[in-house]
Amino acid sequence: MRALAELIAAVAPPACPACRRALTRVDERLCRACTMALPWLRPGCPRCGLPHHRGDGCPAAAAAFSRAWAPLAYEGVARRLVAALKFRAALPVADVMAAHMAAHLPAALRDPAAALVPVPAQRARRRARGFDPAGVLTAALARRLDRPVAACLVREDRAARQVGTGRVGRREEGRLSVRVRGSPPSLVLLVDDVHTTGATLDACARALVAADVRVLAVVSYARTL
Ligand SMILES: [Zn+2]
Ligand SMILES: [Zn+2]
Repeated sequence: MRALAELIAAVAPPACPACRRALTRVDERLCRACTMALPWLRPGCPRCGLPHHRGDGCPAAAAAFSRAWAPLAYEGVARRLVAALKFRAALPVADVMAAHMAAHLPAALRDPAAALVPVPAQRARRRARGFDPAGVLTAALARRLDRPVAACLVREDRAARQVGTGRVGRREEGRLSVRVRGSPPSLVLLVDDVHTTGATLDACARALVAADVRVLAVVSYARTL
């Protein structure tokens, strides 16, 4: 998959990964129109990363992480870049995204002692894609920030399944399960491409905290509003 993406990039003229129009300048990686249309987020609640709360207060009030940050809203150009990374295996897009994150990362999250930990993909998805979008984004961000990557989380989710037979069979809930492997670093930034409900980030942060790891923040490229 990766080799194929690199081959396509080598033979096709460079195009904007968000709108697919041809890029005009050699040093351009996102076209000017898309760059101007990036949906930057205003800083809001430091705990959940939302610009403002709706309804019942902070959705991360009981989360295992105490700080969440994303530079962009998960819409428009940001959403198209995430799709390019995830579904078209446009791996160079990860560096465009990492550049946006590195340029806007708040000073409080720039602790040089923090290693970057990618949120692990579900095994089946990783197998199907041949790569792990959050892992690729984390590697690109680590290069930009000059921080180490510690891929110390493993996903062992139980898929939802049918238990029993016939009409009495019931549906067993799928369960998110994350564990820490090896010896994790003591201070980390947990990295994902999109922060949606925060359930996966919470499960990952919970596993890290249980292993005596301090989670400085969960950082993602885009936040669903
Ligand atoms: Zn564009
Ligand atoms: Zn909040």
